[in-house]
Amino acid sequence: MRVLLVEDDDRIAVDVERALVAAGYLVERAKNGEDAWFLGDTEDYVAVVLDLGLPGMDGLAVLKRWRGSGRATPVLVLTARGSWAEKVEGIDAGADDYLAKPFQMEELLARLRSVIRRSAGHASSVASVGALALDERAMKVSLGGAPVDLSPLEYRLVAYLMLRRGRVVPQQELIENVYGQDEQSSNAIEVLVGRVRRKLGSEWIETRRGFGYLMPEHIA
Ligand code: CA
Repeated sequence: MRVLLVEDDDRIAVDVERALVAAGYLVERAKNGEDAWFLGDTEDYVAVVLDLGLPGMDGLAVLKRWRGSGRATPVLVLTARGSWAEKVEGIDAGADDYLAKPFQMEELLARLRSVIRRSAGHASSVASVGALALDERAMKVSLGGAPVDLSPLEYRLVAYLMLRRGRVVPQQELIENVYGQDEQSSNAIEVLVGRVRRKLGSEWIETRRGFGYLMPEHIA
């Protein structure tokens, strides 16, 4: 669950990064528009938190360039306090939601979860597949109402596959969203998948040899 955080203000960025990490996301940060644009154009993130006031290329220009080249990554824009013009411009430029500074960290997390869900085509606030349910706020997974004890890595694996349910997730994409930029072997992810299968049951994660992993949308 990689998130790109674009913020030039170190004080705000440190607070937001801490909150995102505590909520289970892997965070990469850009401090200026050029770096932000490059990362968003070349890497895959589940979402971007984008400050509009940046040195160099501003946030609106970055967003317009991404959307202009077909990048559909959900973007939560941070606007200056009370600036309705920035909100309007941000939404016109393709932002999925906005948040005015100063903001409560809980609201940022709630809005981020919401844009990620909607981008994956899930409007409901309850992430569930059959008897499997994901509580993103508590970072907990339950099966048939019973809590499943997962490590942080196992949780990220389940959360990402649930987000992309019904779709085959390539092994490399899964590695990046579970481990971040750390080099990890395909063997490591297979071991992790094996551990999760033992906890949930093997039917929840299918292996498609040579393609990746799939959480089916419907479990009989
Ligand atoms: Ca700024």
